[in-house]
Amino acid sequence: MNPLVMTLLLVGLWGAFAVSATRRMRALGTGSPTWEPRTDRIGERLGATWTFAFWQKKMRYYWLAGIAHQLIFVGFIVLLLRSIVLWGRGFDPSFNLWILGPEPVGGVPLGAIYGFVKDVLALLVVAGALVFVYYRVIRREPRMTLSGEGLVILGIIIAMMLADLSYDGASRLLADPNVPFDAHEPGASLASLVYRGLSPDALSFVAQTGFWTHSTLVLVFLNILPYTKHFHIITAIPNVFLGDLTPRGRLRPLAKTTEELMAKVEKASEGDDAGAARIGYSRIEHFTWKDNLDFYTCTECGRCSDNCPATKTGKLLSPKHFTLDLRNHFNSKREGTTDLVPTVIKPEVLWACTTCRACEEQCPVNISYVDKIVQMRRNLVTMRGEFPAELGKPFEGMETNGNPWNLARVDRPAWAEGLDVPLMSDKPQAEVLFWVGCAASYDDRAKKIARATVRLLRRAGVDFAILGQEETCTGDPARRAGNEYVFSMLAETNAATLNGYKEKGGARRVITTCPHCFNTIKNEYKDFGVELEVVHHADFLLGLIAEKKLQPNNAVRGRVAYHDSCYLGRYNDIYESPRSILASIPGIELVEVPDWNRKKGLCCGAGGAQMWMEEQNKDRVNVKRTLQLLDTGATTIASACPFCMTMLKDGVKSQSKEDEIRNLDVAELLAEACGVGETRGAPPAAAE
Ligand code: SF4
Ligand code: SF4
Repeated sequence: MNPLVMTLLLVGLWGAFAVSATRRMRALGTGSPTWEPRTDRIGERLGATWTFAFWQKKMRYYWLAGIAHQLIFVGFIVLLLRSIVLWGRGFDPSFNLWILGPEPVGGVPLGAIYGFVKDVLALLVVAGALVFVYYRVIRREPRMTLSGEGLVILGIIIAMMLADLSYDGASRLLADPNVPFDAHEPGASLASLVYRGLSPDALSFVAQTGFWTHSTLVLVFLNILPYTKHFHIITAIPNVFLGDLTPRGRLRPLAKTTEELMAKVEKASEGDDAGAARIGYSRIEHFTWKDNLDFYTCTECGRCSDNCPATKTGKLLSPKHFTLDLRNHFNSKREGTTDLVPTVIKPEVLWACTTCRACEEQCPVNISYVDKIVQMRRNLVTMRGEFPAELGKPFEGMETNGNPWNLARVDRPAWAEGLDVPLMSDKPQAEVLFWVGCAASYDDRAKKIARATVRLLRRAGVDFAILGQEETCTGDPARRAGNEYVFSMLAETNAATLNGYKEKGGARRVITTCPHCFNTIKNEYKDFGVELEVVHHADFLLGLIAEKKLQPNNAVRGRVAYHDSCYLGRYNDIYESPRSILASIPGIELVEVPDWNRKKGLCCGAGGAQMWMEEQNKDRVNVKRTLQLLDTGATTIASACPFCMTMLKDGVKSQSKEDEIRNLDVAELLAEACGVGETRGAPPAAAE
């Protein structure tokens, strides 16, 4: 071993790494501040870090790649100690870390245990790396970036492991040419078998080569990191730890009040750069330091795009490439010069997003997308007045008539005609406020969901009332489309109404049939001072079944496939209640779309204001989802969202199957089972 060479190696390569890593970290600091603290709730942050960064829960959504990655990750942590030992042996051939030496510590043979674990893991790391070679070279996995860089890194990893085993194997033979296979050192013993019979000089050469190869490659690897996607090895753990712990369904407000927002917009319009930075994002320096950390952390695994409904139907949006385009621009940026749209990101990319969160759910390192896309939409809508023409009517409708269809405000409660539904204004102390939402108020098909819900509430003896004309759109489509002004205005109006009834002692619980209303009132109205218990009707109705206030005794025969709404499932973790309602109904055979259900459920295509936009090419998200549901052989498609229902209804129609397939909300199916349904006259094919 050679102390001088080792000193040069360590000082030179650690020094070079320190310079490039510092440059990268400094670049991170150029981002804007985040809205929320990122070092609070330490226990939760540590929990998330364990679950996602160390246990790598999401990696295993793709099981083979997940296991292979976990092996490499654990192997690297364990082998890091080994690298330190080898660096030390450059100065003193007998060097060992104290607790890993040949002598037992406190009677426990820690060194021997470590040696065994290290040997096994070195072999498993090679196996894990070969899995990724297979993905890249043989399977040529389309979701991955198949660059030479990835293969070079895999080559380095494999070489490091084999070099270490060669060093140990040859050293064993130098000490005893007849050394037997020792199960306590499986890797080194295998290497000894390979090198058995070599002359002492040759063995010494192998040992030296192994030693220097491993010692050097670790440092070379370290120096490659800051310039490649493998920088995630350093940033992934902090990226997870520093994640946003506010509810997933909450987008950050731009201002506390509409008045404050307008003042900001005015300042920004006058060219106040600091103000403009806060009306969404138009340039790369508007992104926060955490957004930049996201860019650095992307592993280019492509799981986000592999699950994105826009990518899957051939739209211009691919979340992975959205991140990579921004990262490349960030790395090459000249401060404050380029508007991102359309030079770096095409507007069609931004407008194709359904805000379904499939990408975020899949991303193993918790990179966020919806907030970035909405921030960019905010800037386009508010500062540049640029948005798809089809959004003009819903924006106007929400602003003037309180609904995106732009229908008369006075017609809002017309759906309840003949049902004698009480109004909160007449019954201000009603315990439950049934928030109907725009879809169930104005869309003829969705009105039936509201009517079924009312019948069920009546049957269960619930003390409820509706707001009638006092209700106005929650603003979800406006907000997701980037129109924060309209959202803020609607949120303030609704907050005043809800808090008014709360003060009168009513509306202790708000129930909704629409996951978008549910998400907005529950997760976003807190920023406008609303603190109420908000319950989706699936949870509420299931509770009534559990209390035996609803008894689904009538058989509803049919094979039923349930479609998960993104805003119910991925945003609010409500996957089981709708299924449990269906399971409680006699006669129903519940089936699932293989793979594409629950967290992985494909979006219906309506979210993020897509309901009111034309899709960019003829491949439709709703048709893709409908085909998945029909492939189960279902005779009924069940949903728990009026927007999903509209999209799936159109999907069924596109296949000319509207006479064979029933499309029902879980409340409608439950109403049938409880004998209070409107839909008992089902098509004949659905009866069996
Ligand atoms: S939120 Fe959905 S549509 Fe938007 S990028 Fe992510 S996966 Fe694609
Ligand atoms: S954003 Fe996440 S899921 Fe998408 S490529 Fe990067 S690491 Fe993979």
